[in-house]
Amino acid sequence: MIFPLQKSNGDWQTELANLITDPKKLLQELNLTSFFNASEVAQIEAFPLRVTQDFLARMQKGNPRDPLLLQVLPQLIEQKKVAGFDEDPLQEKQFNPVPGLLHKYHGRVLITLTGSCAIHCRYCFRRHFPYQENNPGKSGWKKLWEYISNDPSIHEVILSGGDPLLLNDKVLQQFTTQLSMIKHITRLRIHTRLPIVLPSRIDNALFSWIEATNIPIVMVVHVNHPNEISHDLQNRLLTLKKRCHYLLNQSVLLKDINDNVETLVTLSEKLFVCGISPYYLHVLDKVAGAAHFAVDEDEIVKLYHALAMRLPGFLVPKLVREEAGKGAKTLVKLF
Ligand SMILES: *Cc1c(COP(=O)(O)O)cnc(C)c1O
Ligand code: SF4
Repeated sequence: MIFPLQKSNGDWQTELANLITDPKKLLQELNLTSFFNASEVAQIEAFPLRVTQDFLARMQKGNPRDPLLLQVLPQLIEQKKVAGFDEDPLQEKQFNPVPGLLHKYHGRVLITLTGSCAIHCRYCFRRHFPYQENNPGKSGWKKLWEYISNDPSIHEVILSGGDPLLLNDKVLQQFTTQLSMIKHITRLRIHTRLPIVLPSRIDNALFSWIEATNIPIVMVVHVNHPNEISHDLQNRLLTLKKRCHYLLNQSVLLKDINDNVETLVTLSEKLFVCGISPYYLHVLDKVAGAAHFAVDEDEIVKLYHALAMRLPGFLVPKLVREEAGKGAKTLVKLF
């Protein structure tokens, strides 16, 4: 399921060629070789370490509990089998009428144009998803158009993970040019971690593409912890915000990373400064390998109440979970 990343000569593409994939190197850079030994840090073949230099630069040296490090460091604990945590927790395969397209939400289709990401998040609910079988490739685009054109109830196309912004702007342009010819499509949504983990992706070429696209764009970035937003990134995000119809954030609630009120308050405040609206706070999907990130149900509800007491309503993300087979996310019951 891991695709080789495409090479090109853009700035961000050069950075992509220098991803960190060796856990030993990561630990050396962070002065952490004495905290973890080779047997603790597993190189997990099917979903290996992958992180950008830029994201690494935002980790604290010498801190084995760094909240950014814990999001990407493969650990032996992932290999422990835990009841209830499965390879396909959302049973998405049943909603997959055409390669690369999932139709499970009313009015919206999810398209995965690439299976690659610039970072491998250990909690990823698609870490076992068979992207390879499910990548439409350009030759498969025609089938996508047919499916979308033939169903006028579809108003929104969601480009999702892998990370759609790994495609270069020319390919994105070709895609949206065709999409804009389908009259019933009124929005394009992009779920991406790239602006956060590879800020150089937010460049003029991206803006040119957005400006040339005559479909309103909703961009959803994924930030879990306030340390992910550096000062430089803040400025870039503000310029991105000017070009998007909405700029939203989705976080996953992760044990020992962001499962405390102060962290979540700071995150919302920081997102506000960047022009980003907190959208979802997602309960962890029960994917095999991620059980150590799960937060207790009672704890989740308590935490959320405390969060809501601290922030204006528009900075409180909706607390949701994804349930297999449901046509929408489920709001977590708070009482
Ligand atoms: C939930 C989700 C969607 C669609 O859900 P909305 O409720 O329409 O926001 C799309 N992409 C991803 C990755 C999601 O997690
Ligand atoms: S960027 Fe998104 S799709 Fe990619 S590994 Fe992380 S959570 Fe999964």
